[in-house]
Amino acid sequence: MNQLKIQDYLTRNISILKGVGTKIKKLLKKKKIEKISDLLWNFPQGYTDRSNLQTLDKLEIGKITTIRVKVIKYNFPRIRNLPNKVICEDEKGKIDIVFFNSREGYIRKILPINNDVIISGKINYFKNKYQITNPAYVVPVEKEKIVNRVIPKYSLTEGLTEKIYLKLIEQVLNKITNLNEWHNNETLMKIGNVSWNQSIEQLHKKKISDFNSKYYRRLAYDEILSNLLVLSQVRRRIKKQKKISKKFNHDQYIKIIKNLDFLLTSDQKKVIDEINHDLKSQYKMFRILQGDVGSGKTIVSFISAANVIKSDYQVVMMAPTEILAKQHYDLAKKIFKSTDIIIEFLTGKTKSKEKKDIYKRLLNGKINFLIGTHAVFQKNIIFKKLGLAIIDEQHKFGVRQRIELAKKGGKDCDILLMSATPIPRTLIMSVYGDMDVSRIIEKPLDRKDIITLSKPEEKIEEIISFAKKKILDGNQVFWVCPLIEVSENLDYSSAEKKYDFLSKKFPNKVGLIHGSLEKNEKDKVLDSFLKRKIDILVSTTVIEVGIDFPNANLVIIENSNKFGLSQLHQLRGRVGRGLEQGVCLLLFKKNLSENAKKRIKILKSSNDGFFIAEEDMKLRGFGDVLGFQQSGIKNFKVADPIHHQDLFEIANRNIKDIEKDEKNFKRYEFLIKLFDKADIVNEIKLKKTI
Ligand code: ADP
Ligand code: MG
Repeated sequence: MNQLKIQDYLTRNISILKGVGTKIKKLLKKKKIEKISDLLWNFPQGYTDRSNLQTLDKLEIGKITTIRVKVIKYNFPRIRNLPNKVICEDEKGKIDIVFFNSREGYIRKILPINNDVIISGKINYFKNKYQITNPAYVVPVEKEKIVNRVIPKYSLTEGLTEKIYLKLIEQVLNKITNLNEWHNNETLMKIGNVSWNQSIEQLHKKKISDFNSKYYRRLAYDEILSNLLVLSQVRRRIKKQKKISKKFNHDQYIKIIKNLDFLLTSDQKKVIDEINHDLKSQYKMFRILQGDVGSGKTIVSFISAANVIKSDYQVVMMAPTEILAKQHYDLAKKIFKSTDIIIEFLTGKTKSKEKKDIYKRLLNGKINFLIGTHAVFQKNIIFKKLGLAIIDEQHKFGVRQRIELAKKGGKDCDILLMSATPIPRTLIMSVYGDMDVSRIIEKPLDRKDIITLSKPEEKIEEIISFAKKKILDGNQVFWVCPLIEVSENLDYSSAEKKYDFLSKKFPNKVGLIHGSLEKNEKDKVLDSFLKRKIDILVSTTVIEVGIDFPNANLVIIENSNKFGLSQLHQLRGRVGRGLEQGVCLLLFKKNLSENAKKRIKILKSSNDGFFIAEEDMKLRGFGDVLGFQQSGIKNFKVADPIHHQDLFEIANRNIKDIEKDEKNFKRYEFLIKLFDKADIVNEIKLKKTI
């Protein structure tokens, strides 16, 4: 086959393969195998060695063995539940081949009397005789090669045998022998200098399933790069969208920062410049502002909002929860007090009369700045002239949701996302490559690092009196119980138990919040905590990052070894947002493992979310690191961010070179298809109005 034909072949439906009828097709679909390339991504889980052909005097009971024998006699009992038997021999001995549930005709066909055959299966011993029950392979001697070898084991499903699967794989491997290389020589040398087909073949035929074999690495690299290629194309397409550039000067900005009771950090100033540059450009902004909890992203977004409003556009800001949205709204009111900017607040709970009024004033341009929950993006909301959408803390946004978002708001609407989810440096492009990234690294100077302490659970009395003292000094306390995802109930009961316990010690001063509460109830409890009606808030991890509780300066985290490092870091970020010193107390059951001790040590030693994310990834595997579940990068078929860190780095550099010329993308088109990512690029291509 020529190149294009092979490429086309790999992306065709499996039904064109010999041996795939409706039944097999259905079974393959169960394993999510629909295209021919899907077959190849299902790598062997292990290998069975059937390569040592034995004579019948050298059999070992229990061992998988391949034999070459002559069929001498059938024994078909014709009584229900008794198996069919075939007696075979070689010059050294005899063996029974036993079949449960196989028809006579079939047995006669695969084991013709007086013929030599190759049989492979596990050796049993029954009533003084060797036997193989339901042999995995029975083939004529000419086909010895198929059986007498190391045979890969696949994760399959009932009805889909190894034999069937191997035949399919074989068919495909035979077709794809001459595929042109898409990487240039320089890259190829860096990643082990093996071709794609060679790697696929080696992984399916030989015993190399190790992450670090050059064959595995080659395929991993392809996957990493294909991911970056897609994100890069998405970004370039969105950014090609022309818009009317925003026009504003520094006046508004100066006015706002003059009223702040702090100075902006140089990182804050830097990212404001980056955003301003985008706003003033004639292309759409699609930018993510990344910064650890408490790094001061909100004020940056408000200054951007002010600039956009100054240039005669409206701004919308969306936060994931009602309470966070309300906090942004209150802060905006305060910050824009000295301006004539009109701000409104909208959530699902806004009264319908009020809503209608807001809709009207958005449409006629009377409202400059709308802040709220996802309600701000409802269909019936029409802005007169929307110029900027700010999205705060939407960890659940993957590339598809971001594309959707980019389409909202219309052609002149710039997009700014903000996130405190710490992503290890090497992975930033793989997760956010569809956007431009601004980062705030340094935290405000007056921010004291949170002091992190650890204590065994039994010392509860000591812990209580520590909390008491803090409360007497005017502080409030978060008391966090672990969230166990599989069992909402378990989680619920542990928080509730603690609530009961603490309520006795601090009557009428404790609140409880967990995932099974209604949203209203949740907000009510949070509100009474915010208003200082209660001193202690017992919670699961339901409280999102981002909410400011200026008086909460102590967070106590139970069973702290149940949490990931990044999550602990975000949890402790709930405190120390005011001027007081924040303290985080990690509780643990005694007899900590070495690993747990190491984790606590890392947390105590650093307040840098990005560093912690990297350590977290090393310790737990990246699938568990907070926020990655939704990022899409978890769905890699081959690549692994921990084992292939260097490949991510090579790909990050490579994509920058490729981006220099649009024509370069052409040679990787097939690679994108191979990894099923073509549809994402197409989504962008098809829609004209991004
Ligand atoms: P996050 O990046 O987590 O969203 P916020 O924007 O909520 O952080 O800021 C956290 C706190 O830090 C707020 O109370 C905010 O007023 C304050 N803050 C922001 N920038 C500075 C600064 N440059 N100096 C001192 N405090 C700041
Ligand atoms: Mg925030």
